Amino acid sequence: MASVPRIRTRLLSWYDTHGRTLPWRAAAGQTPDPYRVWLSEVMLQQTTVAHATRYFLDFTSRWPTVRALAAAEDGEVMAAWAGLGYYARARNLLACARAVTANHGGVFPDDEAALRALPGLGAYTAAAVAAIAFNRPANVVDGNVERVMSRLFAVETPTPAAKPELGRLAAGFVTEERPGDWAQALMDLGATVCRPRAPLCLVCPIRDHCAAFRVGEPGTFPRKTARAARPHRHGVVFILTRGDDVALVRRPPIGLLGGTLGLPTTPWREATWTLAEAKTHAPRTASWRDVGTVTHVFTHFSLDLRVLTAPTQSAPDSLIWIRRAAAAADTPTVFRKAIELAPG
Ligand code: SF4
Repeated sequence: MASVPRIRTRLLSWYDTHGRTLPWRAAAGQTPDPYRVWLSEVMLQQTTVAHATRYFLDFTSRWPTVRALAAAEDGEVMAAWAGLGYYARARNLLACARAVTANHGGVFPDDEAALRALPGLGAYTAAAVAAIAFNRPANVVDGNVERVMSRLFAVETPTPAAKPELGRLAAGFVTEERPGDWAQALMDLGATVCRPRAPLCLVCPIRDHCAAFRVGEPGTFPRKTARAARPHRHGVVFILTRGDDVALVRRPPIGLLGGTLGLPTTPWREATWTLAEAKTHAPRTASWRDVGTVTHVFTHFSLDLRVLTAPTQSAPDSLIWIRRAAAAADTPTVFRKAIELAPG
């Protein structure tokens, strides 16, 4: 049977010794910087700590405050975000930084409801910033927390239907005492001990209270419903080169990878493309050479992208010429893969 006070005591004491040292976390006794907490939480929604760290360090060195980020050029921020995916989040990031600067004097509001009213701040991020940056008793429920709850209580309802139940179970542990540490302790337990596969139950501080451990198959929680197959699409990209430069285009602001720099491409559709058909979408007539295909998996579909390349001396003004290395660094991962495939 789960005992809230005992579990809290054990987990917080474990956190005091085993909590992760992360670049956005304040050291013990220091006040967290809401800007760094917010930025890290937005980045971590879509990637791992290891991957986000580089981006976090880059962002905070270029834009050390929310005011500095608010004043940045859109294109510069989108380029810095390249590789993190979900570009709508980068646009929301800027919108939020500008709202904090324009409407709150560059200071993040310190309660969950006011945070939630900022552009792009969903329920999760508002709760995380309220708890971690301002020590408010907010219920912070990410995938790690859901997993821990599903195991602690051996919840049989499969995900995603179990989400409300898991959220309620997590809320039962939130108190006025150390809410920020509690949120981070649960996240850390989920990330380092109660891992998705092969949880390390033998070193778990709350093992004695864990129903899934007692049942004997903790790794089978959370229960899952069968997932529908991800649709598959095809496209063709065009790499026009001029010396060391590669031609890019600015993608439309709305839609997948909106507002980012990318390679000229056909639409991405379920049917394959013939070369003749694809070339009608090329940025210009050229002796296109087929250098292979890259694959990429987005959240809602997977993609085969055929890569055509051609040298040129003249090209339409609408193209943006960028050094190959910079083009690979500043474009979303799917285009970087294509650029890296094409011989320099
Ligand atoms: Fe997770 Fe195992 Fe700890 Fe239960 S005992 S919370 S399954 S690590």
